[in-house]
Formats: sequence, structure tokens, C-alpha cells
Amino acid sequence: LSTLALILGDQLDRQSPIFEGFDPKRDVVWMAEVAGESTHVWSHKVRTVFFLTAMRHFRDELKAEGIRVDYRELPVKSEGRTRVGGEETLAAALRDAIDRLKPLRLVVVHPGEWRVREELRLIADEAGLELVELDDTHFYTTPDDFARHANGRKQLRLEFFYRELRKRLDILMEDGAPVGGEWNYDKENRGAFGKKGPGKVPAARRFKPDTTTQAVIDLVNERFAEHPGTLDDFDWPVSVADARLALKDFIRHRLPSFGEYQDAMWTAEPWLYHSRLSAAMNVKLLDPREVVDAAVAAYESGAAPLEAVEGFVRQILGWREYVRGIYWTQMPKYLERNALRANEPLPNFYWTGETDYACLRDAIGQTLQYGYAHHIQRLMVTGLFAMMLGVDPQQVHEWYLAVYIDAVEWVELPNTLGMSQHADGGLMASKPYCATGKYLQRMSNYCAGCRYDPAKATGDDACPFTTLYWDFLARHRDRLAGNNRMAMQLKNLERKPADELSAIRQQAAKLREQLAAANDQ
Ligand code: FAD
Ligand code: SF4
Repeated sequence: LSTLALILGDQLDRQSPIFEGFDPKRDVVWMAEVAGESTHVWSHKVRTVFFLTAMRHFRDELKAEGIRVDYRELPVKSEGRTRVGGEETLAAALRDAIDRLKPLRLVVVHPGEWRVREELRLIADEAGLELVELDDTHFYTTPDDFARHANGRKQLRLEFFYRELRKRLDILMEDGAPVGGEWNYDKENRGAFGKKGPGKVPAARRFKPDTTTQAVIDLVNERFAEHPGTLDDFDWPVSVADARLALKDFIRHRLPSFGEYQDAMWTAEPWLYHSRLSAAMNVKLLDPREVVDAAVAAYESGAAPLEAVEGFVRQILGWREYVRGIYWTQMPKYLERNALRANEPLPNFYWTGETDYACLRDAIGQTLQYGYAHHIQRLMVTGLFAMMLGVDPQQVHEWYLAVYIDAVEWVELPNTLGMSQHADGGLMASKPYCATGKYLQRMSNYCAGCRYDPAKATGDDACPFTTLYWDFLARHRDRLAGNNRMAMQLKNLERKPADELSAIRQQAAKLREQLAAANDQ
């Protein structure tokens, strides 16, 4: 054996540079399902099934092409040594493969998680083997591109990076200027459904589990029975062919309204006009270029308006590349950031959905059911509540990494720690996303079905978001004072009569006590 080509669970990319120069006669692909990747942090059953079944589909496609794959299937029982090595961690499974296969060198594409990259380097070192690390060509940019962009800048902002990429890659550009004259149609992308509601939203295409997926569902139900979530509704695309069908379905039926309703929420409507493509992209079943090109083509053919297409392109070409750049230029210290010194425990109801706060119940409930919530639910419901309550960002990070089907650390961590918790002190987003319950009342129908009143900050029916909002501003007043973008909110805080603010802060303290006490029960 010459080369052992390591393919990790989020690297299911047939166009990967790992196949350049791959010689099926001498080289072997190595893939392993290991329990450690589902248990080092807790993992939703949907997330585990998605990764494992997508890996098995990819393995089968490679084998059908005549590529030899040394593949370790996760045994149903968890005892130490079972069939095919039976080790429980990625490191142990790889050591076992090196012993058996005796490769001359290892090759891997840049992993999506710092911890995994460090582990692989260590194992190669121990085994005295060369480890070749290839750039991940799935992305438009490399971490070095981002480092160059960031070099010498006082502030990192998505907008600058995004414009640079639009120009360089000539996406939605005309004669050197942005198509339509504006770089950004954010203002038109903040619609709510109002009282009339969303009406009939075109249903997303579903993918019934095939026999491979069903076997994995059975395995996960047996082996990870205690893990959060249910598999009753598993309908995700798990192969390249199905991911392409899901893309087509989104472009045709939901992209045209994606922009306008990007930030809107509605009870028991988990998908609305969102694409549901993050998981397929994150394990590399779909190339982001294919997704962006399909959206741009819909604009060019008149099938979707510019504000929807630009809004969608910005998420992928902009945010997705940007957060990856932040991750790789800031790790490993980023993981420990806690700029707001938050140290409350994560309320237990994040794991059960059992709360009478209607917005949190809906967002967490659908998360447990499907392994999915859209961006504004993640940012302005679960994220906002945790930040304003003052939850330890590590616990928030572990929750987000566990419960979403698309969770991979390079994208989850900057979104959680930076964008939603402001734990990086403003590196990722220029101000903390903080708001009262009135924001949620405007953007959803949650408050109409809730026993709390978003307008109230004190009293039995006070909305916890509204109480915590004022308390958050008061607690961090000094820190936020220098931030121009917070000036208006701080001015309103100054206008609050002292006795009113004091009552709000007492109510916030009581709320923290109650939630912490509920955690101890
Ligand atoms: P759509 O709304 O249809 O958006 C289209 C695509 O744009 C997504 O598929 C995704 O690839 C990309 N995108 C959108 N927003 C972002 C963003 N902020 N950062 C990076 N890419 C983005 N996304 C993940 O892929 N994995 C995560 O683990 C993850 N964790 C998050 C945690 C928090 C606290 C927050 C606020 C956001 C997180 N996101 C994460 C970003 C975003 O919420 C999801 O990408 C999106 O909800 C996925 O659903 P969709 O495919 O229907 O997205
Ligand atoms: Fe959520 Fe407050 Fe509205 Fe209830 S009143 S749904 S807790 S924002």
C-alpha cells in the first residue's frame, strides 16, 4: 500500500483534491464511523444518522467505481473491541488502520475541526508517517486568503469581505459594479407575515429513507437511544443525486420568496422559504458554486427577484466563507472566549423543549424533532435568550454543536460564540444582537399564543426577553458605551426611571434563580 487517503465524515466530495493522483491499484481510501464523534459532545440522533448514512452512500459510490475503501462501520453494541477494530475514537480507529494496512504516507484534506487536525498530526507523528494536508477546494477561499484580507484591518466585517469576493469572482456584477446598483438588499429582506400568516408555503421535497438510511436509523435508535431528538421524520437528502434534487426544488419553489421572509418566523412552520441545504453543503455533497450559480441563473432567467438571490448568495459566498476564515484564523483560543464573563448554566429546557415561553418551545421543539431551526430562530430565539440570561458560552456552543444536522465546528462556533453570544467581544459582529420580546412579536406569531406579554418587563406575565433585555444593557452598560451602534439602545436605558430599572433587575435575578433551581431538580 502506498497512500492511505483519509476521508472524514464531512468530506464526501468526489471532486476533492484527495483523488488527484489517486492510484486505485496502490492506494486505499480510509473512512471510519466512530462513536466518539457522536459523544465527545452530545449529538442529536438526526445529526448522527445524517453523517453516517451520507458516509455509507459515499463509500458505496466509491466502491462502485472500483476504489478500495477501508471502511469501519459502527457496531451496534458499544463494548470496546468489536468487529473491524471496534475502537471508539477516530484516533484509535486510525491507529488500527495504520497497523493493518502499513501505508507509506497519509493524505487528508484540511479538516473542518481544529481538534481533529491536531489529532491526525499527532497520530502521523507517532507512526513516523508523512501527513500531506491538502487545501479544501470545496470552499471559494482558503484560510490564508482570509488571513490576507484580515491583515492590518482594525475591524473585520462581513460586508468588506463579501464585496471583495463578489468582485474577484465576478458574481452578480455588471461592468465592475453590483448588479442592480446595490451591494446589499438587506432592507427588503426583513419582512414578517403580519396577521394574515404565511399562507400556503410550498412544501420542501422530502427524501424517504432508503435501506442504507433505514439501517443507520435502526443502529442509532439502538446505540444512541439516550441522545436528544427523534428520527420519526428523517427526510434529508443523503446522496449527491438527492442533494441536487433538493437544490432544484428550492430554486424553483422557495428562492423567489427567500429574501423577503428570510427573518420571519411562524409557529409550526419550521422551513418556510429556507433552502435546507446547509447539511448537504457541509458534508460536501453539494458544491457551494453549484448552489450559488443556480440561484444567479434563476435571477438571470427572471425566475427569482434580485433581493432574494442577492440575500441567498450573501449567506453562502459571504457568511459561510467569512465564518470559516474567522474560525481558522482565531483557533484554538477562540474556543475559550467569554468577553461578557457569562457563567449561568444552560436551562434544562434547551434539551427538552418543555417551557411555557412559546417562542422557545416552538424553536426548541422543532430542533428536537427535525435537527433544524432556521437562522433567525437560532440567533434571535435560542441564542438571544441564552446571551441575555448570561449563559456560559461553552455550554451554549456544546448545545448548538449537538442539536443541528448541519453542525460542524468551523461554522457552528463563530456563529454561536461570536454572532449570537458576543463572547468574542465584537470580532465577528459589531454589536451584540439584543432585543426585547417586541422584536419576536413583530417577526412571528409566537407571542399571540404565549401567556407572557412582550411589552412587559416586570410582573407575573412579563416576557423574559423584555426583562432580560434591560438587565443585559444595564449589566454591560460600561462595556457597550463606546459602541456607536449601541448608542440608541443605551440612551433608552438612561431614560428608564431608576426604580423601574431596579424592579426589572430584581425580576431578572429571580428568573435566573428559578431557572438554575429547575436545573438542579
Ligand atoms: P438558508 O437560510 O436557506 O441559507 C442558505 C445557506 O447559507 C445555508 O444553507 C448556509 O450554508 C448558509 N448560511 C446562512 N447563514 C449562515 C451563517 N450565519 N453562517 C454560515 N453559513 C450560513 N450553519 C451551519 O451550517 N452549521 C451550524 O452549525 C450553524 N450553527 C449556527 C449557530 C447559530 C447560533 C447561528 C445563529 C447560526 C448557525 N448557522 C449554522 C448558520 C445558519 O443558521 C444555518 O446555516 C442555516 O439556518 C441553515 O439552514 P438552511 O440551509 O435552510 O439555510
Ligand atoms: Fe417569547 Fe416573550 Fe413572545 Fe412569549 S411573549 S413568545 S416569551 S417573546
